[in-house]
Amino acid sequence: MPSLEAGAEIGATSIQIFTQSPRMWKPSQYAASVLAAYREAQAQHPSITDTFCHATYLINLASADPDLYEKSVECLINNLSVARGMASSGLVLHVGSHKGAGFEDVVSQIARAFERALDDADPAPEGYVECPILIENAAGAGGTVGRSLEEIEALISACGGDERLGLCIDTQHLWASGVDYSSVAGTKKLVKEIAERVGLDRLRCLHLNDSKIELGANRDRHANIDEGTIGSKGLAPLVGHPKIRELPLLLEVPGDGGGPRASDVAQARKVVSVGVKLYSKPAHAAGVKKAAAHEPAVKKSKKK
Ligand SMILES: [Zn+2]
Repeated sequence: MPSLEAGAEIGATSIQIFTQSPRMWKPSQYAASVLAAYREAQAQHPSITDTFCHATYLINLASADPDLYEKSVECLINNLSVARGMASSGLVLHVGSHKGAGFEDVVSQIARAFERALDDADPAPEGYVECPILIENAAGAGGTVGRSLEEIEALISACGGDERLGLCIDTQHLWASGVDYSSVAGTKKLVKEIAERVGLDRLRCLHLNDSKIELGANRDRHANIDEGTIGSKGLAPLVGHPKIRELPLLLEVPGDGGGPRASDVAQARKVVSVGVKLYSKPAHAAGVKKAAAHEPAVKKSKKK
């Protein structure tokens, strides 16, 4: 399977693929034997453990246009059927944009679309777990839905907390929507919010990207890791967090124009290992900190 081989070649352990052209409606038709061959190749692959699918970009479940909405639901059903057939670990979805109509106005139509897709898509083959739809957080431009955990929480609860709905956090979109996780304190606050609003068990993967734009600038502009406004230092607290560090991290970085390279995968691993260290507290370090706390002068001089 070319996608598994391409992933292995750059040292990845998870991959994300489009199962049809992402900017065209034309649905893909895979014979059952082709899907079975993928499942077999994935199961046998020595290094790639997860395949995620990304839904078609044209899908807009928040559209006020009935034709576009219907087309979107049909497309999502097809995407999910293929993802399930491949035994994918999740179908990542950009929900769409209400184009200014307001989030409240579109919640129920989105919930209906989710339920239709989850019920009408071909079931997973026997013995395989049903691939969830993973709602991806949005950067927040032009009425995009899913710009906050609060919105994502509302969508999931409008589906009665359906267990087949999950979450994919895109680090660049999160940054663009104004969430500053670049410190341990910031990350802890974020993880707490994910746990309370959505549940950490629903968080299945991260899109790990640096950002070409500033915090809160509401645009979707990915940069290579350590070449953007977040930087390795800003990403480390998030990817090193004990509840996050084991999750699949999917790079959607430009590389040198052709997507993620081996060096991008290596850079991502480096960020995780730096991040993990932020949460380990060696006994002697804890002792030093405690001693310093008793000496206000020392503590003060360390402040910047
Ligand atoms: Zn993404």
